[in-house]
Amino acid sequence: MSKYTEETVLSVKHYTDRLFTFSTTRKPSFRFRSGEFVMIGLMINDKPVMRAYSIASPEWDEKLDFYSIKVPDGPLTQHLANIEVGDKILVGLKGTGTLVLDALLPGKRLYMLATGTGIAPFASLIRDPVTYEHYDQVILTQTCREVAELQYGYDLVKESMDDPLVGEYLQAGKLIHDAAATREPHTHTRRLTERVADGSFFSDYGLPEFNPETDRAMICGSLAMSIDFKKMFEDRGFTEGSVSSPGQFVYEKSFVG
Ligand SMILES: Cc1cc2nc3c(=O)[nH]c(=O)nc-3n(C[C@H](O)[C@H](O)[C@H](O)COP(=O)(O)OP(=O)(O)OC[C@H]3O[C@@H](n4cnc5c(N)ncnc54)[C@H](O)[C@@H]3O)c2cc1C
Repeated sequence: MSKYTEETVLSVKHYTDRLFTFSTTRKPSFRFRSGEFVMIGLMINDKPVMRAYSIASPEWDEKLDFYSIKVPDGPLTQHLANIEVGDKILVGLKGTGTLVLDALLPGKRLYMLATGTGIAPFASLIRDPVTYEHYDQVILTQTCREVAELQYGYDLVKESMDDPLVGEYLQAGKLIHDAAATREPHTHTRRLTERVADGSFFSDYGLPEFNPETDRAMICGSLAMSIDFKKMFEDRGFTEGSVSSPGQFVYEKSFVG
């Protein structure tokens, strides 16, 4: 039996010369939980070239969204960057991953901490009403180098405001969106780890400091950021969770965004 199925590209939008988003059809039999990833790819020289991709759409959606890097010589993305509406994409049969609500214990606040394309699994979760049913407050952070790299996140939050399923939660202020650009002038230009360490991140939004009793966190992005936040949470008494043993934080171990 094949390990993947074929889906058709429905839309493509390029954000920068390094970033783009696209959506595909979704077979009704394809199951995943919001926040999971799946293997996707293309047939290149008659061979499948597959890579892990977070599904950026929520589990209830009829289509699949992805948010992608373009690596100039990347075996997959040098080709994926050229896809057009109507092209075929290979998609694995099932989603998997640890950035799911089931891997976290109940809490008051959910922090989603991303760098770069690490925002993709959170694009799924912030559009899932279950996220807001589980938590009083949801805080999405994205740190990039350049301001243009933040646009996908801004568009996502803006569009979610009018979403029939989650719009009312966003309009009620349940989602905080923090965006920072570290290499260009912007409202926030320092790394999130620094802003958390000196408390300015919390005072900016009137939030209390991280507390393992009430706060839960998901981390997705660069290795350096993941290591720093993992240590920061462990130092504060947070335990790592998994679906079989829910905890207070989870992170995507091999993401590079
Ligand atoms: C669980 C998981 C989920 C992932 N989800 C996504 C996603 O939603 N979107 C996405 O674009 N990528 C994602 N990735 C990375 C993705 O699997 C590929 O590495 C990426 O698409 C590049 O593929 P490639 O074959 O062109 O180059 P590769 O040979 O895979 O990578 C070449 C180099 O490019 C850099 N690179 C790769 N991916 C990124 C990235 N996302 N951001 C910055 N630098 C990168 C790294 O330095 C890497 O060594 C995910 C990886 C994992 C493990």
